[in-house]
Amino acid sequence: MKYPLLLFFALLFHCSQSQYLIVTNEWLLGQVDYAKDVRFKTIPKKYASKENLKLYNTALDSLIKMIGQAKKEGIELKVISAVRSFGDQRRIWNTKYDERKAKFKNDVDIAKDILQYSSMPGTSRHHWGTDIDLNSLSPEYFTKGKGKKEYEWLCLNAERFGFYQPYTADKNRTGYQSEPWHWSFYPISQQLLQVYNQNINYSNLVGFKGSSAAITLEVIKNYVNGIAIAP
Ligand SMILES: [Zn+2]
Repeated sequence: MKYPLLLFFALLFHCSQSQYLIVTNEWLLGQVDYAKDVRFKTIPKKYASKENLKLYNTALDSLIKMIGQAKKEGIELKVISAVRSFGDQRRIWNTKYDERKAKFKNDVDIAKDILQYSSMPGTSRHHWGTDIDLNSLSPEYFTKGKGKKEYEWLCLNAERFGFYQPYTADKNRTGYQSEPWHWSFYPISQQLLQVYNQNINYSNLVGFKGSSAAITLEVIKNYVNGIAIAP
């Protein structure tokens, strides 16, 4: 009888050490009602550029610690984008698709152009509530002055808070252009990516303009997995 009890305590210890995640396809694809789902919390306005941005709870806890530490060191970080649903991403995607229809002759060329900086619905890490955009969406902003200092601070310190930059300038990476503003809470996002690769396929990536380009461009391999290696 001694051993089952030991096993129980070992399990209890294990569970208290690592967060056990139940990952559904709906979560991976952004088909979640973030306003009603208690796992997602609103980022307090003082940390964000607008009201009602949301994140997965543990990602938000760590983010608040990181922003607090940055502030103590004279660096101001503000979230400009956080969780986005499949519907949000579809609106962004379809608008960009329409803007490019006259310029490009087929869906693949249109998609390739949008995919420089924007994800196809169902493939965005922003669906997960683990990823944020900070301070500016302009690559130039982070190359000089205040923006450069902010980026350097993040490169040195974000890792201590569980955040890393998935879209670096690393030439060995495929997919999106470098995004110095995009940071990911990897204790959760790396678990989601694992399940994504097991459960999601091209039959899930439908319901938006030019969706057939997803297969041709192998967006799961080249974009969803076209990320820098986490530290
Ligand atoms: Zn982003």
